[in-house]
Amino acid sequence: MICNLCPRKCNATRNKTYGNGFCRCESEMKISRIAPHLWEEPCISGENGSGAVFFAGCTLKCVYCQNYEISHENNGKYYTENMLADKLRELVDSGVHTIEFISATQYIDKLIKTLDIYKPAIPLIYNSGGYESTDTLKKLKGYIDVYLPDFKYSDDSLAKRLSKCDDYTQTTLNAINEMLIQKPKLTFDDNGIIKSGVIIRHLVLPNHTINSIGVLNLIKENFGKKALLSLMGQYVPHGKAENFEDINRRITQREYDKVLKELIKLDLDGFAQELESADKSYIPQWDY
Ligand code: SF4
Repeated sequence: MICNLCPRKCNATRNKTYGNGFCRCESEMKISRIAPHLWEEPCISGENGSGAVFFAGCTLKCVYCQNYEISHENNGKYYTENMLADKLRELVDSGVHTIEFISATQYIDKLIKTLDIYKPAIPLIYNSGGYESTDTLKKLKGYIDVYLPDFKYSDDSLAKRLSKCDDYTQTTLNAINEMLIQKPKLTFDDNGIIKSGVIIRHLVLPNHTINSIGVLNLIKENFGKKALLSLMGQYVPHGKAENFEDINRRITQREYDKVLKELIKLDLDGFAQELESADKSYIPQWDY
């Protein structure tokens, strides 16, 4: 295949053994972990967890990625569409409340084929770095119930330095807009599990509260209360973060409170993590 699936538009050659795009992914679907995951927002995990499918490789590759071993090093196991469909059945049988596809952009066509074989009757969540092409997102219409994009940067120079993106901010605004066109209404079941809608995540980075405040303001200006916001304070230096002095520490309570204060001032709806969440034990064990 020639790949232009994400906004990087690499025009890359991808076949069974080779991929020369930014993500370095081959054409075969590669997955790093499939298991119930308990640490998402309460409306996603509930009591039994979300069935999380972590895809190998990433179109963003942030230097500090908490999942560095799979996003940068592409570690995982190859799955056919039928194999993944079987795993989705197992997850549903285990009693999870939702199924979550994490960083699936580079395999989107195969994910859709999988869902044509078996579409679980529980909410399907598309968890993404936010940097998505609207044309590719349109392919997911009718397959996905809840979009869970990150909105990482309001400062494109920071996006360029940490995620090698020249155009992160506007591209992500456009992507979230498309997600809201597809899923404009937030709905929940009687147990508070989300059935439909968009939740935007923002991870606060150390020394970059101005970036975070910019993100919150862009969300307010562009989307108002149509989406929920999930503010995350769980940053721990990981991956190549030690090479970047500004992000080589956890965030302080003072930094988090400053961003939280802006969230309250803007009257955005959603969730805010406790700072105690900043612990590497929340990073899954990659058993492939
Ligand atoms: S999915 Fe990978 S190969 Fe395709 S355009 Fe994006 S980074 Fe390039």
